[in-house]
Amino acid sequence: MSRQRGVTIKSEREMASMREAGRVNALALAAAVSAVRPGATTADLDAAAEETLQKHGAKSAFKGYPGAYPFPAVTTVCINEELVHGIPGPRKLKRGDIVSIDCGAIVDGFVGDSAMTVPVGEIDGEIQRLLNVTLESLYEGIEKMRAGNRSGDVSAAIQTCVESHGYQVVREYTGHGIGRRMHEDPQVPNYGTEGMGLLLRTGMTIALEPMVLTGTAQTIVESDQWTVVSLDRKLTAHFEHTVGVTDDGPIVLTALDEETLDALGLTRYNKYFAGRLAKAV
Ligand code: MG
Ligand code: MG
Repeated sequence: MSRQRGVTIKSEREMASMREAGRVNALALAAAVSAVRPGATTADLDAAAEETLQKHGAKSAFKGYPGAYPFPAVTTVCINEELVHGIPGPRKLKRGDIVSIDCGAIVDGFVGDSAMTVPVGEIDGEIQRLLNVTLESLYEGIEKMRAGNRSGDVSAAIQTCVESHGYQVVREYTGHGIGRRMHEDPQVPNYGTEGMGLLLRTGMTIALEPMVLTGTAQTIVESDQWTVVSLDRKLTAHFEHTVGVTDDGPIVLTALDEETLDALGLTRYNKYFAGRLAKAV
């Protein structure tokens, strides 16, 4: 693994290890998503993810993560106006809610990080539009993850997509380089200017994560000192993939193939898990 101004460049072999960490993380996320139903608690979703991590001999990148106090779970789970960093617990999901789940796995020393927001039962069409736009903005960013582009191209693509639909991107939290550590350089905000920022090179791996708000872009941290919510308590959504820059274009390291999704009964989330740019390493 070489470095360019604090940014790690992965060899082909390291990229394959990143893919394995990403695949296991995606399986854990899928397990949590499979547990989503009215009446399930957010702790139930976390338990499903933890069981999958254990089954694959993976460690959690989240549990014990330093903050006001160490993060206590393997996932962050957020309902409705909660944007990121929600602590799983006894709260029950209700029909019509949206729930975001974020998970991080460490496999053979490499980290995968991915997140998605899903409906609990039937949701309103306007809320579905928020989920569609947030996912679309993620893939708009992924499309720009090409050698020779700049990180600002990625940021601008996400921002343009989100704002063209009348939503806001968060300012305080960003996408990030990822490798042997969950948070490496560079920071990749969900807003930016084309042609600015870090020059992207083959071997870079970055977690892109649009965090989208339907009202004000301002957020606050709840009294539990972890959960980030929109200041106006309007709905938010969050999608994330760990993405690698290769000579053949972007690859989604936290993807799952259609066969796996089929076996898990999650083909309805194919657009997220097996996005059009996902390729096997
Ligand atoms: Mg994450
Ligand atoms: Mg992340």
